[in-house]
Amino acid sequence: MDRRVEQGPEGKLHTVMSPVPHLAIRRPIRSRLSRLRSQVGDRWRRVATLNPPRLANAVQLHRAFAQAIRRRDAGVPLPEFQAWPMSLSVEPTTACNLRCPECPSGLRSFTRPTGMLDPDRLARLLEGPEGLARELVYLNLYFQGEPYLHPGMDDLVAVGKRNGIYVSTSTNAHHLSGPRAMALVDSGIDRLIISIDGATQAAYSSYRVGGQLEKVFEGTRAVLEAKRQRGSATPHVVWQFLVVGTNEHQLEDLRHMAAQFGVDGFVVKTAQIDQPADGHPLLTRDPNLRRYDRSPEGRWTLRNPLLDQCWRMWQGAVITWDGQVVPCCFDKDATHTMGKAEDGRAFRQLWHSDRYRAFRTSVFAGRGDIDMCRNCSEGTQVWA
Ligand code: SF4
Repeated sequence: MDRRVEQGPEGKLHTVMSPVPHLAIRRPIRSRLSRLRSQVGDRWRRVATLNPPRLANAVQLHRAFAQAIRRRDAGVPLPEFQAWPMSLSVEPTTACNLRCPECPSGLRSFTRPTGMLDPDRLARLLEGPEGLARELVYLNLYFQGEPYLHPGMDDLVAVGKRNGIYVSTSTNAHHLSGPRAMALVDSGIDRLIISIDGATQAAYSSYRVGGQLEKVFEGTRAVLEAKRQRGSATPHVVWQFLVVGTNEHQLEDLRHMAAQFGVDGFVVKTAQIDQPADGHPLLTRDPNLRRYDRSPEGRWTLRNPLLDQCWRMWQGAVITWDGQVVPCCFDKDATHTMGKAEDGRAFRQLWHSDRYRAFRTSVFAGRGDIDMCRNCSEGTQVWA
């Protein structure tokens, strides 16, 4: 892509990018200092959720995890602990407008029921005498599916926000234009991750099958404009580039576009690939942009060693739209369900149930023996 930086009459730097017509306009490049300020503000909003009970719970979780590692090394059973999740992912919906490969929503391949989360269910989980909001620091309203296909997505956010929790989500940004963007900003959501995996329509839709890059641009512009009109620091808008073999050549172009658009952050994520093999179209040529290495015998395996431990599962959980509690976001089809939680109390019983304990024990005994744990990013470098 042809790119030029020019100085305008008012002395500001402008970039001109020509082959993508809608970007061939002059915009001020957002300064690094201003992005840094947004990042500091975003970190602060997360830290600010830590009231004394949440802090005490986080300390307990860390202590119990360290103890579990020591016990594993000594060959004795994991400790009993009295701490609760500090982060939770809750699935607004399994529905999705796109058809990305490697995604059961996109492939319509779920064996579990599909549907939409009832905001009352979320309220029952977080609120009341045994509600999880007491210890919860981070609520990610995302698992499978496109969250903004849920007509009450802003109501879901509101449940988290009225309980003082940091709330985030991840979206393909196809449904964010016009008044939707203003409602999103007004919901108070703290972080909005926008998946944008290419700088041209061809590269973008090579993975985001059925997606329109122009809609992602529109959605981004709408949210940034709504933030400006409201004078709001939130949401912290991050463009996430899932790098695969068909778009890796556009990484630097998109990084530059992110600065032009004025988003708060730009992150590059490597792809999880179900069965990596020679010639797989999603494997990048650049070894630094993938999670897998090829052995001299031609086997593709995760680059990092599989440690028999898992902080992600230890400190949090995932709840599907219909209340199934699963250990982590890798259990996309809820194969390892711990049971159904209708409210906070039911969740607390499941969290310390024999089944959950047995799962934790099996991860610490040999993570490689659990299918989904073998190809999981826990302990692996996923941000390139
Ligand atoms: S797949 Fe296994 S190792 Fe990975 S996050 Fe889930 S429980 Fe942990």
